[in-house]
Amino acid sequence: MSKRSPSPVLSASAVVAGYRDKTILHGLDLHIGAGEIYALLGANGAGKTTTLSLFLGFVAPDEGQVRVAGVDPVGQPAEARRRLAYIPENVALYEHLSARENVAYLLHLAGEAEDREAIDRALAAAGLAESAFDRRVAGFSKGMRQKVAIGLALARNVPALLLDEPTSGLDPQATAEFNRLLGVLRGQGVAILMVTHDLLSAADVADRIGFLDAGRLLEEVAAEGSERFDVRALHHRYGGQAA
Ligand code: ATP
Repeated sequence: MSKRSPSPVLSASAVVAGYRDKTILHGLDLHIGAGEIYALLGANGAGKTTTLSLFLGFVAPDEGQVRVAGVDPVGQPAEARRRLAYIPENVALYEHLSARENVAYLLHLAGEAEDREAIDRALAAAGLAESAFDRRVAGFSKGMRQKVAIGLALARNVPALLLDEPTSGLDPQATAEFNRLLGVLRGQGVAILMVTHDLLSAADVADRIGFLDAGRLLEEVAAEGSERFDVRALHHRYGGQAA
């Protein structure tokens, strides 16, 4: 069985959930601790996005329990969302605003202070070049947009981060840079859940990989030793579903 931190930041226990009369998740158990990167893989329709929706409070469990840093995202949605950052596949920003203005405005909307020095530190820590801080984001690449979103997460100091297909459409260099950034967030104790089809990238960065199949977690594999994961074996076992 997988190792489990004493009090997980992101936690789903025996969750049954879905949409109207269609059950998608059948007894999901997922626990992610502070400073841990968890990659959830699975075929189209396996329930990965539904799992993110659980933590965001958009889908309520029919059975079981969901917690974000101890908070029920359905019962206390505002409290739960204050504790997490969500980075969708395509990061939505205010196109006519600069990177710095976006972070300041989004912090303001989140009801948090927008200290300029803190914003600059966060954007720099997210790997955005200083020359881009004052540029409108309209011309930004996907990788640059993600850096702005990660800068926002850093400035908000959230304990949990949810990522939907973060490396799809990124070139190998941008993927490596993105994975490095996730390592920085892990170092700050953030609990990170990423859903992805990208086994190689997941194997590069994740501490654990879970394979979701038709709403059930088939297996969890933890990184071990210098090779971390046996990617060939994982691909052989799950390639048809996950890739
Ligand atoms: P993908 O890799 O394609 O994004 P996924 O693993 O993220 O897939 P989900 O998006 O969680 O899968 O979808 C799981 C199932 O739930 C699918 O059968 C999908 O059609 C269904 N589904 C998703 N959203 C809704 C919704 N809002 N209403 C009804 N059914 C939905």
